[in-house]
Amino acid sequence: MKVLIAIIVLALPAAAWNATGHRIISAIAYDRLTPAAWAKVDDLIRAHPDYSTLFTADALTDSAARARAAFLYASTWPDVIRGDTRFYDETRPDFVQTPLLPGFASMSRHVTWHYYDIPFAPDGAKPTLQSPPHALSELRRMLVHISSEPMADAAYDLPWLEHILGDVHQPLHATTRFLKAQPKGDAGGNFVFVASNAGQSITLHAYWDNLAGTDPSDDAVSKFAASVTAEYPASSDFSLNPNRWLKESFKLDRSDVYSFGLGTGTKDQPLHLSAEYDARAKVIARQRIALAGYRLAAVLNEHFR
Ligand SMILES: [Zn+2]
Repeated sequence: MKVLIAIIVLALPAAAWNATGHRIISAIAYDRLTPAAWAKVDDLIRAHPDYSTLFTADALTDSAARARAAFLYASTWPDVIRGDTRFYDETRPDFVQTPLLPGFASMSRHVTWHYYDIPFAPDGAKPTLQSPPHALSELRRMLVHISSEPMADAAYDLPWLEHILGDVHQPLHATTRFLKAQPKGDAGGNFVFVASNAGQSITLHAYWDNLAGTDPSDDAVSKFAASVTAEYPASSDFSLNPNRWLKESFKLDRSDVYSFGLGTGTKDQPLHLSAEYDARAKVIARQRIALAGYRLAAVLNEHFR
């Protein structure tokens, strides 16, 4: 039974940047907060209902280090609850709502909040449009309300803001490709199979999720954050418009992510990406992660003065 469950879970459209990617983005942001934003963000994180059970699971004695670790953990929380039975998946046809627990705005896993599918139809297939709630509607909502809503709601929203802002910088969270041969779409690259560097068959989506590596340790995260911010310093462009973040991602989908052509591969016969593709994808991932980190800091500094 366990095996069956694992297969079902793997078959579902996946996460986004993996935990490593999200932790890097939040580390870049946290280290660039103003003292006012810092204080407010730390208060909100401490007010989250899962703070003492999950966010501080490997509690550090130093309070500043503990606050930073909790903020980094919070960025992964929307993915963590995918496997938490306190929560339900509202997209399953037979879903059963779980009881609302104290402190939570909702027990839904909100699986559609992680992406906004701008349709890409390179061979003229008829696309389906995604209806809200999605990443764009939720980012817009949170960017309007997070600094003025009641503390419990802001505490619930903050991990989502950290997470979704990061997600939409992963190009495959901004599109679904529709082909005549795949008329229902590829679910953000989840139905396209490519060979990983290790020779395994993985989805195109997972390939992009893992481009920042798969080591979520503080050491690896801090090293990656230092290296990308040195390589790609913050520019003066701090567009705080989520629609623009998504359009940038979509542009990369058209120019680079699907540059291998109209193939979809199969689990048994994955597409083989060129060394040039792999090198370019790594550059894009590094740029997008740095930018997401700067923008998360800018948004929080703007809203928590
Ligand atoms: Zn996500």
